[in-house]
Amino acid sequence: MTFPITDASPVRFAAPLPPRADVVVIGGGVIGVMTAFFLRQKGRSVLLLEKGRIAGEQSSRNWGWVRQQGRDPGELPIMVESLSIWKTLAAEMGAALGFRQAGVLYLAKTDREMAGFEAWMEHARAHQLDTRMLTGAEIGAMLTGAVAPWKGGIFTPSDARAEPWTAVPALAARAEDMGVLIREACAVRALDLAAGKVAGVVTEAGRVACDHVVVAAGAWSRLFLARHGVNIPQLSVLASVGATEPMPEIFPGNAADDDFAFRRRADGGYSIAPGGSEHDFFIGPDAFRSFGAYMAILKKEWRSSSFRLRAPRGFPDAWSTPRRWAEDDASPFEATRILNPAPNLRTLGRVQDAFARAFPQLGRPKLKAAWGGMIDTMPDVVPVVDHAPIPGLTIATGMSGHGFGIGPGMGRVVADLVTGGHVGHDLSRFRFARFTDGTKIAPGPSL
Ligand SMILES: Cc1cc2nc3c(=O)[nH]c(=O)nc-3n(C[C@H](O)[C@H](O)[C@H](O)COP(=O)(O)OP(=O)(O)OC[C@H]3O[C@@H](n4cnc5c(N)ncnc54)[C@H](O)[C@@H]3O)c2cc1C
Repeated sequence: MTFPITDASPVRFAAPLPPRADVVVIGGGVIGVMTAFFLRQKGRSVLLLEKGRIAGEQSSRNWGWVRQQGRDPGELPIMVESLSIWKTLAAEMGAALGFRQAGVLYLAKTDREMAGFEAWMEHARAHQLDTRMLTGAEIGAMLTGAVAPWKGGIFTPSDARAEPWTAVPALAARAEDMGVLIREACAVRALDLAAGKVAGVVTEAGRVACDHVVVAAGAWSRLFLARHGVNIPQLSVLASVGATEPMPEIFPGNAADDDFAFRRRADGGYSIAPGGSEHDFFIGPDAFRSFGAYMAILKKEWRSSSFRLRAPRGFPDAWSTPRRWAEDDASPFEATRILNPAPNLRTLGRVQDAFARAFPQLGRPKLKAAWGGMIDTMPDVVPVVDHAPIPGLTIATGMSGHGFGIGPGMGRVVADLVTGGHVGHDLSRFRFARFTDGTKIAPGPSL
């Protein structure tokens, strides 16, 4: 199986560029798509521009976990809302989303991990979630044929899964039916500013006037914003995923320990990946600039990072990526239509071994596909969702490895932020200014 969304995929969304729109959304991942969806629902004319294909980057490459469990307390109320939107959309759209509430289970081998889960229960209780602690025996009964040394775990039955590479394009198609103009293969090169305010965007296909721009450009947001003097300490890390051949069901939901994570897929296989957020970290100029900001999270998670000296050509933080370009020249966004990093097959081999050790009756799982995704992250592992210092510009990026599940809720929030509606949640944790106003960087629970 080749990865389903590539540069060779036919362009499916090809709206002509209008001369103007109320709002231009940059980036056709789950955040941009759902922001456009809710802006249109509020009656705005919306143009969504995507340099490659809808969901070509993180939004198709993720694990497909839709989870409340383990979230930062700042994100949790938005995630609770998001889950309810997923349910409504799934009821309306049927199988297209692959949505199913089959639970999220975290497994602990040590007392320390159990204590971390226990501490998070406070947040579950505050939001009346159905989360509960489990004993090792209860886990044994839940995971068919499991042989593993788990002391216990934490389980949220209402958490869910969805199929990323079908769900996000289906949501885009629905937004288009509602009247959102969507254009793939159309990079935004720069903002068009007049008297210091947003007046439009400059795309590779021409200018479009607008009152507001939302930057939901995933791993590219920092590069895009920096050209306009708007700086966020966003970096990206490579995460690798494999899809197994169909195999007997051992658990219908999503589960992880510190060695491996797995999620039942609609096609009867599992999406598997390293547990404990193991990733490859490419060092580029932005990584150097932001080193100080990342000290807190590096101290906590250095064991899960494999450092690599150079990002491949065309990556956002590659040494060769231009940081400045003219509006009438091709931008780095056109040079890389779809960020498609090679997966780390050694890491995935360890995941296959861990899976086989835990479920010996199934043998070593065979992979029918493997892929990589660049996770865009922030030093405190929560996003930036805020107005930028340029009037008319809003940022919704840095979802830090958990933006798929929260996408629908975040889209609703961003739409209200842009239109001055009732946001309904405290967004102070996601402030743009938190990295420069002296606030101590406090990484979220990252469970
Ligand atoms: C391996 C992996 C596993 C993950 N697992 C989960 C999970 O289980 N659950 C979960 O909740 N989250 C998960 N995530 C995180 C989740 O996928 C992301 O947080 C989420 O998809 C981010 O959505 P986004 O719209 O912000 O960014 P993206 O999906 O990356 O979309 C941004 C889009 O902007 C486009 N773009 C950039 N610059 C421009 C420009 N100048 N002009 C036009 N277009 C532009 C890009 O081409 C891209 O398509 C995972 C991520 C990865 C990589």
